[in-house]
Amino acid sequence: MKTLVYSVLGFEKSFLENAANNKHELTFLELPLQENSAHLAKGFDAVSLFTSDKADEKVLDILHQNGVKYITLRCAGYDHVNIQKAKQLNIKVANVPAYSPYAIAEHAVALLLALNRNILLSQELNKKNDFRLDKLIGFDLHGKTIGIVGTGKIGAKFAKIMHGFGCKLLGYDIYENEELKRETNITYTSLAELSAQSDVISLFCPLNSETKYLFNQSLFSKMKKGVFFINTARGGIVNTVDLMEAIDNKIVAAAGLDVYENEKPIFFSDHSASKIEDDIFDKLRSYPNVLITGHQAFLTNEALQGIANTTCENLSEWEKNTISKNDIH
Ligand code: NAD
Repeated sequence: MKTLVYSVLGFEKSFLENAANNKHELTFLELPLQENSAHLAKGFDAVSLFTSDKADEKVLDILHQNGVKYITLRCAGYDHVNIQKAKQLNIKVANVPAYSPYAIAEHAVALLLALNRNILLSQELNKKNDFRLDKLIGFDLHGKTIGIVGTGKIGAKFAKIMHGFGCKLLGYDIYENEELKRETNITYTSLAELSAQSDVISLFCPLNSETKYLFNQSLFSKMKKGVFFINTARGGIVNTVDLMEAIDNKIVAAAGLDVYENEKPIFFSDHSASKIEDDIFDKLRSYPNVLITGHQAFLTNEALQGIANTTCENLSEWEKNTISKNDIH
């Protein structure tokens, strides 16, 4: 299976080569897949895509014209691929439904703790020889109410960690996770109620037509004053301008964001020699109580090897002319 790996990040190569184990011919390309780079897939059976790639109708047409039959995603989310169009063109698409849910859940906890305990400010002050404590007061997570939106693989791991902290858990999901209820006493409720009751809200649902801008002015206005807001899911679930208004109005006391709705042209590359042309992003990162990481929640050795292994397993299954168990229908 000749595969062109788009948007490859330097550190990914060894994990992918290890997983391919000489059984798959992988060609690495740092360029993202978009209209002007889709023709490069000519002569390849498959392409492998990351979240920074875009496989919309036009791009899929070009891939199809160039003979591509398979798309193996190096991520769980597939909101950046037009699945309907791929189906029409008979291009199979498979994702990595699970790699290490711990990686993302633990990163959400890292954002929460760093914000609550003012870790970055403490470091900044220490470097200036300022060891006063007055600006560094946090709160115990023990006994606080944590609202978890999306209690699938990652949300459930986050719930268990927060249960270990001694928190009370509220959940919102279109399906209730019965095992999680037994293990953590999580109480499912409406999104409005979760918003009104939670001291911390963390998102773990997918981005789709139902969740686009699910977090908007109307929902932020229902939240408890002083809520900590964490998003490691997808940027488009949150209206960023409305989030900043909620921060200005002191409804949201702090936000930890690993994703941003217009992250594609910004994240995963070095812009240190240029200006980022995004006023909303510039304003967002100017807040001292907003902590942004550039879509790195998945970035652990275990997750990277898991992603690489499943990416190659998907190719192997297609090669055997069977459907891959991870095919997206
Ligand atoms: P999952 O499919 O296991 O869980 C998602 C949960 O969301 C499910 O329980 C589902 O029922 C629920 N859900 C679906 N629609 C919903 C809606 N309208 N309202 C409320 N809940 C809804 O997925 P997962 O593996 O746990 O991934 C969760 C999120 O994390 C996804 O958005 C994924 O894109 C994101 N993610 C981010 C990173 C990162 O590095 N930041 C890495 C991997 C995944």
